[in-house]
Amino acid sequence: MKWRVDVAVQTPAHSALGDVLSYASVVPMPPGALVRVPLGRREVLGVAWAVHPDEDGTAAPIELKPIGAVLDGLPPLGDAWRDLVAFAARYYQRSLGEIALAALPPQLRDLSTVQLARRLKRQGAAGTPEATGEIPQPVALTDEQTGALDRFDAEAGPFLLFGSTGSGKTEVYLRAVAALLERDSSAQALVMVPEINLTPQLEARFKERFDGRFGAAAVVSLHSGMTNPQRLASWLAAHSGTARIVLGTRMAVFASMPGLKLIVVDEEHDPSYKQQEGARYSARDLAVWRGQREGAKVMLGSATPSLETWHQSRPAQGTDAGGRYVRLAMPSRIGASTLPAVRLVDMNLQPPRTVLSGALLDAIGQRIARGEQSMVFLNRRGYAPVLACGDCGWKSECPHCSAYRVFHKIDRTLRCHHCGFTERVPRACPACGNLDIAPVGRGTERLEEHLGELFAAVKRPDGSVVRIARIDADSTRKQGALESQLAAVHSGEVDVLVGTQMIAKGHDFRRITLVAAINPDGALFSSDFRAPERLFSLLMQSAGRAGRDAAYLSSQGATAEMWIQTHHPQHPLFAALRRHDYPAFAQQELDERAAAGMPPFAFQALLRADARTQDAAQAFLNAASVSADGLEGADRVTRYPAVPLTIQRVANVERAQMLLESASRAALQRVLAGWQPLLHELRRAPEGKGVIRWLVDVDPHSI
Ligand code: ADP
Ligand code: ZN
Ligand code: ZN
Repeated sequence: MKWRVDVAVQTPAHSALGDVLSYASVVPMPPGALVRVPLGRREVLGVAWAVHPDEDGTAAPIELKPIGAVLDGLPPLGDAWRDLVAFAARYYQRSLGEIALAALPPQLRDLSTVQLARRLKRQGAAGTPEATGEIPQPVALTDEQTGALDRFDAEAGPFLLFGSTGSGKTEVYLRAVAALLERDSSAQALVMVPEINLTPQLEARFKERFDGRFGAAAVVSLHSGMTNPQRLASWLAAHSGTARIVLGTRMAVFASMPGLKLIVVDEEHDPSYKQQEGARYSARDLAVWRGQREGAKVMLGSATPSLETWHQSRPAQGTDAGGRYVRLAMPSRIGASTLPAVRLVDMNLQPPRTVLSGALLDAIGQRIARGEQSMVFLNRRGYAPVLACGDCGWKSECPHCSAYRVFHKIDRTLRCHHCGFTERVPRACPACGNLDIAPVGRGTERLEEHLGELFAAVKRPDGSVVRIARIDADSTRKQGALESQLAAVHSGEVDVLVGTQMIAKGHDFRRITLVAAINPDGALFSSDFRAPERLFSLLMQSAGRAGRDAAYLSSQGATAEMWIQTHHPQHPLFAALRRHDYPAFAQQELDERAAAGMPPFAFQALLRADARTQDAAQAFLNAASVSADGLEGADRVTRYPAVPLTIQRVANVERAQMLLESASRAALQRVLAGWQPLLHELRRAPEGKGVIRWLVDVDPHSI
């Protein structure tokens, strides 16, 4: 008896090889088994996708290579997991093997059967730590939390937990998970957060709540900041069912969890749920799909949901049956503390070139004097975005990109944030020799310096000098830097915290009473139709960092404030923000999107091409567009002309894209599926000459 086994292996993204490769086996194995198979000259990891008995050899017309080994110490990957992978591959136009192998821990690729067996034995021998039985006394829920949980229990979902910042959403997740694990002794829960930075604090809260009850092995994390052995251990724990709760970033959506019954997606609106390279999947959308497939309840949480989710959760009205998500609302902050008052500073009334208005400086100064903290937010790192010569007009362009290099004063470099090209700052203008080259505009580094100068004379309540700190991608590069900087803020050592959006999200700061966005206008008039949505949620998130501790506020006699400096104080986005009125903002945006036929009222995909020249990139896209003419569904899909990307050239590669749009997701999917083979062909045809790579981005986030 022989078997023919179709195996998903990682093949190069656009190779001509099919989705699975066939191998011969003399032993049977279940679909989902992990195997090692020969591929070219190497032996690689693969997943048995289908297994066919091949009694007389007729099913295999050519001699098949034999399977190298079966990793039979591991239970096979389940049907549900394979369905998820297959769906993601199909929907996002990637190969099965690419998604399947990317979803497995990297270390699994390198382990032999023997090594894996040893590994499993060790993990098994370590045993499952016993529960101590110490269960922390949980807080009494608010009425809003109780209401949300009751509906969550009673209905099928998917759910949107629409809760203000500080309304206690995390407590709701904890309770929903607790109820599930108590009810069902084999159930598992997956809880996702958008950023690695947020996993340690979440892990601490979950471990505190559950270790005593279910043992210290019950909660594991899964994200790319872990070492390969750690990731493998977490993955094995999830796959074997010993981990009851998996906390992770977007990659965790692919965790193999045989007992999965609940998926939480915290801050579901966050752009980081969308993978931006390789297979460009949305972990939030996959979570909803996975929940449906596996009968797991899905809870999406946010104070500023994505417009897609908001629209999906609209209540029935008139002839509209409403969306398919259940909306659970928690409008109030815990402890009756109110959301910060929003103050708009009209920058048109300030002297030209004002960076920080006098009123804002006064407000920060008063807080320093009272021992309170402020957070100043600017979404641009570095010292200045451009360095320029006043004499000849030279600017610090990157020679490899259509972008300026950013001036970083700390190490006196000009750095390209797109290709990484870095040089020391020239002493004189490289074009004319003028010694007087100057930074233009400002980033967080310069803002930090500026604030330090402005508040040098102000004293803290104990008479000591003011401390300004900065948190951004540059200040947190070293391992552990972010943790220690956050700890300094939490312990009250810092008076003014300067930072990028990194500090806007999630953190439960207790003594911040003022948050300021000093220059958010750029996003108001961006060519990207999602920019206002992102700005609104970022500002709401930032505001959510202020006044989180009602007891502290009242002990200080303080009020929490969010300051916004803008040249467009009349903009409706700010009007809605002032009232903390996300629904009003969402309605404005949705009305505009409906009128313009944009998502969520239409579905989009991008075809992108990178080439040596812009002409070559566009020629490929235009030929691709023509080739799609006869495809099924093409009559219902609008194909726009090819255009250069906003940043057209990066690392000497020219980039162009073409937008596809349709009111029908199914039609768009049909066109994309039919298009794949044509695109592969085109790439090898004369029209593909000069093309370095192409890719399809389904439901793209930025256009
Ligand atoms: P969110 O995730 O909605 O921003 P959190 O879950 O972080 O809010 O809760 C904000 C704060 O309120 C946290 O410090 C949390 O411990 C506390 N908290 C949550 N629920 C309750 C409750 N029912 N009673 C008292 N404090 C609570
Ligand atoms: Zn010059
Ligand atoms: Zn560059």
